[in-house]
Parts: sequence; structure tokens; C-alpha cells
Amino acid sequence: MHAFREPLRVESVPDPEPARDGVVVEVRATGVCRSDWHGWMGHDPAIALPHVPGHELAGVVAAAGPEVRGFAPGDRVTVPFCCGCGRCEPCRQGQTQICDADYQPGFTAWGSFAGLVALPRADLNLVPLPEELGFTEAASLGCRFMTAYAAIEVHGRVRAGDWVAVHGCGGVGLAAIMVAVARGAGVVAVDVDEQTLELARSLGAAHAVDARAADPASAIAELTGGGAHVSLDALGSAATCAGSIRSLRKRGRHVQVGLLLDDERDVGVPMDRVISYELELRGVHGMAVSHFDALLRTIARGALDPGRLVGRTIALEDAGAELAAMGGFAQRGVTVIACDDPAGAGPSRAAS
Ligand SMILES: [Zn+2]
Ligand SMILES: [Zn+2]
Repeated sequence: MHAFREPLRVESVPDPEPARDGVVVEVRATGVCRSDWHGWMGHDPAIALPHVPGHELAGVVAAAGPEVRGFAPGDRVTVPFCCGCGRCEPCRQGQTQICDADYQPGFTAWGSFAGLVALPRADLNLVPLPEELGFTEAASLGCRFMTAYAAIEVHGRVRAGDWVAVHGCGGVGLAAIMVAVARGAGVVAVDVDEQTLELARSLGAAHAVDARAADPASAIAELTGGGAHVSLDALGSAATCAGSIRSLRKRGRHVQVGLLLDDERDVGVPMDRVISYELELRGVHGMAVSHFDALLRTIARGALDPGRLVGRTIALEDAGAELAAMGGFAQRGVTVIACDDPAGAGPSRAAS
């Protein structure tokens, strides 16, 4: 990426070297996500040009620095999009996802729309992949799926029998529906696209509300007998944030999952409702690496299938066009760039 909002180019660049405590990973698959679109639009001040996007990756360790103990070349791995430093207060409390040093491939550093990507502090941040999980499915975990898992399991603390409302059924919203259904919750999906709502129903949502046809908060209150126990803004807008809060029953929990960027940075929160209903508001910034084992075990035993969300796979050359097309709100499923033939693809290419 040489300029914001300009087509991406695939070029040859020097191979990255591993840091003393880091690795270089040969990318086998990498997701394309709305955060990449925000970055490409110039909404993310962390990005310095020229830049290589890409933060939802899975691959094979190609080289490891001398201080890495737990990983070696040939290991199949993925990584949460937010890597920890291991030294700051949040990291020492196990909260690597809100590390003060904030290393995010594809944002604060060059990412995985490339043959090779360097990752820091491998022993802290890398996650070994179980054999059951393919690279494409694994690439769909490291951002939206794990964020959805954190929203439902860690922040929402959803229990069997709860009502969960999901406002916005893009990749992270659909993933949240799957995690909530697996937990035994009843899900109300909200979106503005009929095909997306159909997809939400096929993933187990009990009800689907078309936000163009009905006020979501009133519809949810009626469908759930008073409101959701847990509600997610999985899109990130003033309307979905307020709608999510207003769709909660008393003592309910709102989980803000969708990023609020650019014009949506300052949303009007209905704080009167927060007080009178004693609501809880939680923000989610990815997931601590410590929760990954539970997520992977749930997938390995078949209770969750992230592959169901992968709509299609594309080639690295098509990444720019895919990003440019993400401006609209309607996204059906998850797109993954697959690099099935890394030798033929050439290890040092990058979409910049
Ligand atoms: Zn840290
Ligand atoms: Zn992402």
C-alpha cells in the first residue's frame, strides 16, 4: 500500500528477518476483514506508508530467532492480531490483547498479505494449530472469530438459556451467533440484508430481525419477553451501539465489538437506560492469547466450525479489489486469501 484508497500492488520486497525472540512465518492463508478496509481508507493512525496489510493469518514457521524456545521451523501456527510485549502491566496480568506496546501485524507493522511475515515474542504470542484445523479455517480465527468468542464467553459471560442479541451480522456477528448457539443461548440476529439474516438463521439464530422493517430494540423486547441478557454491537455505528443497549433487559450486558472509527468515534450512549436498568457496558479488543486453548479445544471436538463462515478464498493478487469492495455494509461470510502453493507463489512477494 503506497497510498490510502489507491489500488494495492503485489511487489517483491526484502525477506523479513526474525527478531531474537521472534519468528518469520510462511503465510498459508490470511483473512480479509473490515479492519483492513479501515486501514486502507486511512482511518487508522497507526499505519505508516508504505505498508503491507493483513492480520488474520495462519502458516508455518520458516525461521526462529535464537531466544525462541517453544517453536521451531515447520510448526503450524496462528497468532492473535494483537501481540503482547510480555512486560507491561496488562501483559503481566495476562491481558495481551490490550498491551501498552500494541504490536499488530498489518497495522503497526507489515502484515500477512505477503509470503512471509515477521512476528515478535513468539513464545508469548504464537498459538500452535491442532492438526484438525486447516490453514484457511485457522486464518478465520485470529481476528473476528476470537473476538466473537471473547465477546460471548469472556465479556458477555453467556449461559445456556440466555437471550443474546447480535446487531450486525458480518463476519464477527455470524461468529458470535455460532459461539452463542454452541453455548446453548437463544439468539436474535439483527441486520439490514435478507440473505445475511438467512445465513444467521442457518447458523442457529432463533429469530432474525430486519432493522429496515422494525425498530430492533422493540422487536427484541417482544421476542425475548423483556430484552436480551447480552447484546452485541457487532457492526460499530452510533445506531447499532444505541440499539444494542436499548435491546437489553434489566442487568443486561452490552458488548461493543464493532470498531467505532472515523465519523463514528463518539457515539451517543443512552446512559439514562444504563442507570435505570443497571446495565453493564464492555468493550472487546480481540482476545488474550490465554483463551485460545479453550477456543481451539471447542473447535477440535466439533462444537464450533469456523470453516462454515468462509464464504470464498481468493488469490493475493485479488486482495486490493476485495478491500475496495468492502465499503458497503453488506458482507456475506468471510473472505480468505489462500496461498496453497507458497513455493510457486514466491516467499518475498507482498501486496503493498
Ligand atoms: Zn504488553
Ligand atoms: Zn480482522
